Amino acid sequence: MPKINGGGVRSNPFGPDWGGPVAEQQEVQQTTGEEVESNLFGKPKPPIVEPKDAEMAALLGRLTSFKDRIARLAGDTPSEYRLTLAQGTIAMIDQSGLIYVGDAFLENYGHSWDVLVGVLAHEIGHRPKRWREYHKEIPQDKEAAEKLCRLEETRADYFSGRALAEFGFDCEPLVRFLLHISDTPHPEYFPADMRAEVIREGFEDGSRQSRNMAKFFPEFSRMQSAGGDLGEG
Ligand SMILES: [Zn+2]
Repeated sequence: MPKINGGGVRSNPFGPDWGGPVAEQQEVQQTTGEEVESNLFGKPKPPIVEPKDAEMAALLGRLTSFKDRIARLAGDTPSEYRLTLAQGTIAMIDQSGLIYVGDAFLENYGHSWDVLVGVLAHEIGHRPKRWREYHKEIPQDKEAAEKLCRLEETRADYFSGRALAEFGFDCEPLVRFLLHISDTPHPEYFPADMRAEVIREGFEDGSRQSRNMAKFFPEFSRMQSAGGDLGEG
């Protein structure tokens, strides 16, 4: 597997580096809900780029159709999320639901849709527009903020596993990708092998749900399976 230069993502496999600002902010001011939220999703944005050729445009187009399906699986409407190519990132999502997909990442993994879809599902799994609805508690110190970030990452990892199962992909390529790019331990993340377990748990959950759908609602399940796609958008 080629080593991807993630630019600012050395310690964050699927997004910007969350390390510094949590610690710095803590010293200057009391952490509020908005601050934690901007810490999660309000990082400097990577520079947006256009697809360099028709092949990249086609990859982005196919990824966009998965974006719509993943959004519906998350319980959101596809129009709440947009995709753009960017430089120096693997993938990240901001507060407005704009997902930045790294051009080098897309180019290198254009053959590996289980990784691309898994990473995309992880980002959508953060559901930045819903974030405030399920995070009522405001962390009072650095440790609590890190714990909240780990929880948030865990939730997104679990969802990515579920989405892969729902769409008929395997989760092991994503797990290998994660282990491959996580070289440094980071306080905002659980270790990569623990995250791998979370992804597998989510995948099991998704597989079980698909099996149950197939068992109890064969007709519906056929319509929802990898080939077809229910829904408007
Ligand atoms: Zn994440």
